Amino acid sequence: MKKYTMVKITVCIGALLLALLLGVKELIYPRNKQVQETQTIQEQDFFDLKKLQGKENLVPFLVLGSGPASLSAALYGARAKIMTVVLRGNKPGGQLTGTSFIENWPGVGRIRGTEVMQDLKEQAASFGAMMVDDVADSIDFSQWPYKVTTEEGKMMYALAIMIGTGSTPRRLYVPGEEEYWGRGVTTCAICDAPYHKGDHVVVIGGGDSAMEEAIELSAYADKVSVLVRSDTAKASPNMIERALNSSNVEIFYNKAIAEIKGNQEHVTSIEVIDTKTQEISDWDVQGVFLGIGQDPNTNLIKGKLDCTEFGHIAIGPKNQHTSQPGVVAAGDVSDDRYKQAGVAAGDGIKAGLDVVWWLSELGYNNQMQEQLEPFFFSQRGGKKVELEEIESLQEYEDVLYDAQGAVVMLDFFTPYCPSCMHMIPVIEWVISKFEDKAVCYKVDASMAFDLVKSFNVPDVPYLVFIKDGKVVGKVKKEMTRAELYGYLKKIIEMK
Ligand code: NDP
Repeated sequence: MKKYTMVKITVCIGALLLALLLGVKELIYPRNKQVQETQTIQEQDFFDLKKLQGKENLVPFLVLGSGPASLSAALYGARAKIMTVVLRGNKPGGQLTGTSFIENWPGVGRIRGTEVMQDLKEQAASFGAMMVDDVADSIDFSQWPYKVTTEEGKMMYALAIMIGTGSTPRRLYVPGEEEYWGRGVTTCAICDAPYHKGDHVVVIGGGDSAMEEAIELSAYADKVSVLVRSDTAKASPNMIERALNSSNVEIFYNKAIAEIKGNQEHVTSIEVIDTKTQEISDWDVQGVFLGIGQDPNTNLIKGKLDCTEFGHIAIGPKNQHTSQPGVVAAGDVSDDRYKQAGVAAGDGIKAGLDVVWWLSELGYNNQMQEQLEPFFFSQRGGKKVELEEIESLQEYEDVLYDAQGAVVMLDFFTPYCPSCMHMIPVIEWVISKFEDKAVCYKVDASMAFDLVKSFNVPDVPYLVFIKDGKVVGKVKKEMTRAELYGYLKKIIEMK
């Protein structure tokens, strides 16, 4: 009986330990596990690098948005030598460009938000990140590379995507709000509270964000008045209690702002309306903090990526991966807690590294990137080029004169040579990728005898490359797009 009880106890403890171990693992890696499962199911056929051959407008790493999260991700992608494109979106630079000064950007003193974003943009671009002023319109995750179309009609095929589309703070739309935005009217207490030492400030809203703003402001302002538009506050009782623990915080119910007034430079007063009696009163205040919530900008991915209960993109927990392999998110679009530029930048770095590692695990490397380069998306490459024809040495001299440093290509052909006809669209495509760095003219070898003689053309198709007036290359064979692209690129880069 005693022995039987001992065995029972041992089995129970063993089962308990096993359940605990599995439970702890689940707690630490729940999202990783989910992403991992999706990857193994689809990896072999869905993420096949062979699909990239011959596909146009490829983008190995596409970053959506240009706030601190996006540009930090782009910096890490580009610095790892992965071709990176930043689709800058509707508001290049993000919310920081709408604030005046920042004091909490690590390692830097007081600095303008616009300056921070300009520096970040230049830093990412200096490592080769391509900045594109356009807005992503749709993403198709059902095919890989993922297809992204833009408002201007561009089409990109992305191997990996970082979503850093940010969030939009809700606005009141009352008179004076727009005029004094960044000059007393703001949404970020952590950023701007220190500018309100000794002031009377109001916080609008009755949720947890408003209470948090009030707590933050209470350390600096003389008086903090929280205006709640109804007779109950949505915030948790605990947050309300914490706010009211500060002696300089007071909550006013059934109060809303009717107008924000100022002295042209900053806010000086507000018109407050009692939502029950409609009575209007003037209050002297120097700061208006909107704590009425933020909407993550998730229109692009709604129904396509997992989101949290607050509507943010679900990530991590120990990385920035979303529910779709090769797609990461960072910044306010996936952060419902910190909403700070520094945090967004840090998470953007994690997102960049997550992509670098994901691509590497997929087998994407420098050698492959070199082969795919002719097929990369190019801002210049959209224009269709049609080769013009020249017929004499005099016309060739004119072409050289107009070239202004560009490489000049002569494509000797005859109308009855099939290889020559194949080469023409190849040349037009390659030339379109280099725009002002190279030009090409057709020469009908059965007509332009002086040019044929001058360049010793033995047969067709025959390509002659001229740089700074000197012949630097001759090719007597049909070439593929990739071959011609690589050959011409070397000549363009030749010193
Ligand atoms: P919420 O949607 O919870 O609250 C918004 C508040 O703003 C409500 O009181 C709402 O009033 C008010 N409001 C909305 N529009 C207006 C308007 N035009 N004029 C005046 N008042 C307006 O947003 P939060 O950002 O506060 O919170 C979002 C989520 O994040 C919540 O789930 C919250 O718990 C969580 N959070 C948690 C924190 C924490 O745990 N520390 C901190 C911050 C947020 P009404 O109720 O009348 O609609």
